[in-house]
Amino acid sequence: AAAESAPAIVVGSGYGGAVAALRLGQAGIRTLVLEMGRLWDTAGPDGTVFCSTSAPDRRSMWFRTRTEAPLATFLWLDLVNKDISPYPGVLDRVHYDHMSVYVGRGVGGGSLVNGGMAVTPLKSYFAEQFPTVDADEMYGTYFPRARSMLGVNTVDPAWFESTDWYRFTRTSRKAAADAGLRTTFVPNVYDFGYMQREAAGTATRSALAGEVIYGNNHGKRSLDKSYLAAALGTGNVTLHTLERVRSLSRAADGSYLLTADRIDTTGAIVETKQYGCRYLFLGGGSLGTTELLVRARDTGTLPDLDPAVGAGWGPNGNTMLGRANHVWDTVGADQATMPVMGIDDWANADNPVFAEIAPLPMGFEHWISLYLAITKNPERASFTYDPASGTVRLGWTAAQSAVSSGMAKKLFDRINLANLTLYRYDLFGSTSKVFADDFTYHPLGGCVLGKATDDYGRVKGYSRLYVTDGSLVPGNIGVNPFVTITALAERTMARVLAEDAAP
Ligand code: FAD
Repeated sequence: AAAESAPAIVVGSGYGGAVAALRLGQAGIRTLVLEMGRLWDTAGPDGTVFCSTSAPDRRSMWFRTRTEAPLATFLWLDLVNKDISPYPGVLDRVHYDHMSVYVGRGVGGGSLVNGGMAVTPLKSYFAEQFPTVDADEMYGTYFPRARSMLGVNTVDPAWFESTDWYRFTRTSRKAAADAGLRTTFVPNVYDFGYMQREAAGTATRSALAGEVIYGNNHGKRSLDKSYLAAALGTGNVTLHTLERVRSLSRAADGSYLLTADRIDTTGAIVETKQYGCRYLFLGGGSLGTTELLVRARDTGTLPDLDPAVGAGWGPNGNTMLGRANHVWDTVGADQATMPVMGIDDWANADNPVFAEIAPLPMGFEHWISLYLAITKNPERASFTYDPASGTVRLGWTAAQSAVSSGMAKKLFDRINLANLTLYRYDLFGSTSKVFADDFTYHPLGGCVLGKATDDYGRVKGYSRLYVTDGSLVPGNIGVNPFVTITALAERTMARVLAEDAAP
């Protein structure tokens, strides 16, 4: 029997989980949210909640003895990573055979660690990826609802053109323009008014102090300040942290049973808890949700799950790279960590790429332009259950990554040719590595909408079981994904609360 039960349980507190929690709470449904990471609301001994990027401590990464930042080296020196002691830190890097995936851990999931870029995809590409979803309704109702709830705003163009903090972006824009490429401003959930006060010296620096992947102490409207604060404010939502859901099953009466391990800050399991609920919402992200469902199907605890569970995964075509500019094309010692511009070559049917102009705040002039390219890589992989280890494996290959870097190379060869510039070879660990295509910030798919679920995220084979997170997106969305994930979750919740409520 379940030790604790609630009408609804939400697993995970990222975008998908936060939307579910708020809309359930507002509907008057008592809801329990189970999150494996910690609540980031208490200052450490240094007086800040999150550690700095330049001097990471145990708060930076999820149970590691050394940080694993995406940029391994600079001039082949291992300047970037630092030894730390194991702790439930805010950023995790999950290693599969040929792909490692960065994810946020904590109340707010990826919103705690991400770059805040809040991009709505091209409507035509959204419609291509989601042929069964009414795109007019998405763009008329759910995308605007998501953007307004998330607190999306844009940098003041006049300030952008004049401030030293975005010199790196202007230099990359010029290099793109020299190759005849279009750049576009991208919105963000970082408060640009706050950033301008940071620059003016009237507010404590966060984005301008290099904070981002290990959390922002100020300025960023992460989910704990938006959706989750509102969810808790309904009075119907309770949050349990440091509890990792391990398995799912169904009781004879059709309710769901969950087993969760509660850990302490050393990672030791201090209690194994049983939960029960009538409505179960999975918001553990592409990795977390897919792993739970693949394991449930293949160990037989939810045997009627569709064969499509586990399939359709992709890294959003992510490839990171750096270019070396000429000495007269400076990028500035000061760089704001919130990206505000992308090179938009998605309309190029031969080689669609959207490349975010990323900061590399080293505190000195380095003449490097850094990019996170999102390519239209059509490759997909599946998760499979490995009974020997009890874990879930991802069948992504290096050849599939090479498709992403090949597309990025075509675009940046054009930029280098037009500017007579070169790639940087010293950023990603080995002496010859130019394209880092073996990691992603944007894991997508695994429980694809309309395949593993119906067209609203209801899991096939079971009633009252829903997926609300990035696992619904079929491997690629062409832009940074959280606005799409949020909008799809809003659409699911509107439908489910209208149609599936208890009699
Ligand atoms: P997540 O946000 O990953 O939330 C899942 C939550 O569930 C996590 O808190 C996790 O700890 C918890 N969980 C998982 N499994 C379990 C379990 N079994 N039991 C209990 N809890 C569990 N996207 C953008 O749109 N713009 C950006 O600028 C951007 N920059 C990024 C930068 C970085 C460094 C990273 C890592 C990501 C970035 N992303 C960005 C991606 C974006 O953050 C993700 O797409 C988004 O967070 C996914 O939302 P989600 O709801 O699917 O899952």
